Amino acid sequence: MGLIELKDIRKTYVMGDIKLPVLKGITMSVEKGDMVALTGVSGSGKSTLMNILGCLDRPTSGEYWLDGEEISRLSNDGRADVRNRKIGFVFQNYNLFLNKTALQNVTEGLIVARKMHKAEAIEIGKKALDKVGLSDRYDYYPSQLSGGQQQRVALARALVLEPGVLLFDEPLSNLDAKLRVSMRTEIRRIQQATGITAIYVTHDQSEAMALSDSIIIMNKGVVAQIGSPQEIYYHPNSEFVADFIGEANFLKGKCVALEDGCGVLQLADTQVRVAATENMTLGEDYTIVLRPESAGLVPEGNLKCRVVLSCFMGAYQNYHVMVGDTLVKLTDYNPKNHRIYQVGETCALTFEPDGVHVL
Ligand code: ADP
Ligand code: MG
Repeated sequence: MGLIELKDIRKTYVMGDIKLPVLKGITMSVEKGDMVALTGVSGSGKSTLMNILGCLDRPTSGEYWLDGEEISRLSNDGRADVRNRKIGFVFQNYNLFLNKTALQNVTEGLIVARKMHKAEAIEIGKKALDKVGLSDRYDYYPSQLSGGQQQRVALARALVLEPGVLLFDEPLSNLDAKLRVSMRTEIRRIQQATGITAIYVTHDQSEAMALSDSIIIMNKGVVAQIGSPQEIYYHPNSEFVADFIGEANFLKGKCVALEDGCGVLQLADTQVRVAATENMTLGEDYTIVLRPESAGLVPEGNLKCRVVLSCFMGAYQNYHVMVGDTLVKLTDYNPKNHRIYQVGETCALTFEPDGVHVL
């Protein structure tokens, strides 16, 4: 059994006569020490699920097991108790006490909620601030700290309470792009160093990939897919997931032959070989997912295309090509000594049979 087990969690908001089902049967588990990214477009129910996970709200039905205890039916007081003992939060508005220093913010919970002696709390608080890179900011007030530093204080404050699970709800969305990237690396490093179990909500797919042992993708109140970043990227179970995590091209074709573990698909007036799936059947229509970096351009070949965009991005050359009337996006990494195709050129698209995923 995982540290967290959700079984068929449902939540319906009732507003007068209107019933709004927001979570429609969520089942998932989180192993101790794992970091799970919960992602999906805005309105898919991520925050609603986090409020249930954080014991701030109750599901309409379903079971929530935390550390061997079913807690979804507890009274408000019971849930508040679980929340205080076992759950830490890091939100996007840091909720720091503005009239307290960084160190006082971090030690407050230890002294007030945990009744720890001040001297001991200060020692622990300083260590936590050191761990998040703020050893020279103990006595600064939130107004004297940058957004990133405030978020670090919020993280240190959650960590000192040693919660069973740490919940992050879009904690970096108030920070600028560069800082977000360095903070997410930092959060992952600290999570791995402390071995803490964490659930991290983000609508940013690269953040979800960079941070997590596994990703849960939600769509309209249901789980679209759960898996490691690699599983989700290489083996998405739907166009929705393929499109949500990473960039994806979709090519559609009929299976016209099966040979040597490959399926041959008829795409417009040409045939391509793809690694066959278990149930691949002659005569059926399939969609293949082609990642931009899995395809290349060659001067001649049977999958003819025309270049409509050719753009140097430093680390890669970005191409858009038309294959018939389908737009395909590709990235050619490290293009320094590669042949560069120009807009208007006719060439051919290639990929390895196992470089695509068949839906
Ligand atoms: P996300 O965090 O993925 O953006 P939310 O969980 O915040 O999504 O919201 C999911 C849906 O539930 C939205 O349509 C939202 O309007 C609705 N919703 C959220 N909270 C409430 C509430 N307290 N009462 C009624 N509807 C709500
Ligand atoms: Mg939200």
